Amino acid sequence: MAAESGRAALEAIEQLKIRNDPIALFLVDQRMPAMSGVEFLESALRLYPDAKRALLTAYADTDAAIRAINSARIDHYLMKPWDPPEERLYGVVDDLLDDWQAAFRPPFEGIRIVGHRWSPQSSEVRDFLARNLIPYQWLNVETEESASQLMAACKTDAGQLPLVIFPDGTHLTCPTPNRVAQQLGLKTRAELPFYDLIVLGGGPAGLAAAVYGAADGLKTLLVEREAPGGQAGRSSRIENYLGFPSGLSGTDLARRAVIQAKRFGAEIVAPQEVTKVRVEGPSRVVTLADGSEIGAHTLLIATGIAFRKIEAPGVEELNGAGVYYYAPMTEALSYRDMDIFIVGGANSAGQAAIYFSRYANSITMLVRGASLSSGMSQYLEDQIKATKNIVVRLNSVVAAVKGSARCEAITIRNISSGQEETVTACALFVYAGAVPHTSWLPEIVERDPQGYVLSGAHLMRDGKRPRDWTPNRDPFYLETSVPGIFVAGDVRHRSAKGVTSGVGEGAMAVKLIHQYLSQT
Ligand SMILES: Cc1cc2nc3c(=O)[nH]c(=O)nc-3n(C[C@H](O)[C@H](O)[C@H](O)COP(=O)(O)OP(=O)(O)OC[C@H]3O[C@@H](n4cnc5c(N)ncnc54)[C@H](O)[C@@H]3O)c2cc1C
Repeated sequence: MAAESGRAALEAIEQLKIRNDPIALFLVDQRMPAMSGVEFLESALRLYPDAKRALLTAYADTDAAIRAINSARIDHYLMKPWDPPEERLYGVVDDLLDDWQAAFRPPFEGIRIVGHRWSPQSSEVRDFLARNLIPYQWLNVETEESASQLMAACKTDAGQLPLVIFPDGTHLTCPTPNRVAQQLGLKTRAELPFYDLIVLGGGPAGLAAAVYGAADGLKTLLVEREAPGGQAGRSSRIENYLGFPSGLSGTDLARRAVIQAKRFGAEIVAPQEVTKVRVEGPSRVVTLADGSEIGAHTLLIATGIAFRKIEAPGVEELNGAGVYYYAPMTEALSYRDMDIFIVGGANSAGQAAIYFSRYANSITMLVRGASLSSGMSQYLEDQIKATKNIVVRLNSVVAAVKGSARCEAITIRNISSGQEETVTACALFVYAGAVPHTSWLPEIVERDPQGYVLSGAHLMRDGKRPRDWTPNRDPFYLETSVPGIFVAGDVRHRSAKGVTSGVGEGAMAVKLIHQYLSQT
């Protein structure tokens, strides 16, 4: 690249820095308008410390050039004129480029996130990208020199973090996941106004329905609030899924299912939330968070369950700053050699403990119950017992989390003795179960007192069909109190809960939907 002045060149290299383009060599004239070559190199060095530097000087500038060997750390100075170039210029440039290339490591080409390690906003964006399988480079502003260089190049101050820089050089400060999704061009709008089937939720149940619905020729749309995979997307290793004897990670399962669903022609919209459902004659209409509406012959509610929060002083304040609910497994790398705590005694907590034990110094599991066996599969319990850096504290709950900007200590209460103990903790990972989040559904979709959606025989009272039921048949096994609205997976009343049953119900729902469509 050529520039007419030092200032123009500095502006250009700022843009190159933001795009993460490497610079091999600065070839700079000492005599330039407004800024000397040495002054330019001193500034350029801050952004590109590894670029080679050659200064072009006149005889009268020799002293300046020699002084610049220290201040601008120039590698070479060339005396003007450099005629013939074959003799006096090209050889020098070749040597400098060879040196540079020998030490050069190609830069990361994806998204870069600059932020504070303990900032909830940074965690939210990282979590979002990880769950959507979008690679990114994390640059901790406290430890990475290139983080401050990028902040300077993007003219961003510490109060505007996280800074998210995209491969084309555009950047966002303090963005929401939705804003990042838009910038990435993720699909957040449906293509058609009307479908045969709209699947609400992209966990295992919803993904299975999308695969089998599209494969069976239904015009199928799946709407997912966060990222396809659902709870399973947070699982490091699902060991009990048919056909995968050595287990597979939830992200892998989700990735495969998304590819499969799209191959069959299903449309997936994410991140996008369904906020309302209504019935209009034979159509079922969903309203999305952006206000748009889409209609369908049938709906499948597969919205799963949401994490149960724990209530103790400090937990809410430090959520995302050392306290995490069902953190994605990528978070484990950030806790290498540290002491962490896990709340929960079911399989998800057990899997997390085993996974974290590869990185953290120690893991303490806080389990409310008197034994692990009541909530956990035997194979996991055995693995936990055999893992040296995992300690299990039974009858234990979190009484408080302490720390000014991040989790620094937690108080543990023994519920049998009532005794409390405060211990140093770098992080608290909560796997305390979940509840269905179905209050947004209309009244006509009947639920049990906990909010789980009723279907099939569970809707029948003394042999009678639901109140406003019109078809001349009983509700199908996975059909709700509204004909044509089906339910599958964890959100269903009395469902078996788990990946396999979710997938099974998603597939079965499609068969029942075909029966419904053939009768209407
Ligand atoms: C860490 C962890 C480990 C686990 N390990 C195992 C295991 O080894 N084996 C096993 O069998 N099970 C395991 N489970 C349980 C298993 O993941 C769940 O039973 C399964 O994911 C349920 O599937 P689902 O499709 O019914 O619901 P979910 O997986 O909960 O998916 C529901 C989806 O709906 C979306 N959604 C919710 N509301 C809306 C809305 N309004 N609009 C749009 N989208 C919405 C959510 O974002 C979510 O993606 C684990 C769970 C966790 C958290």
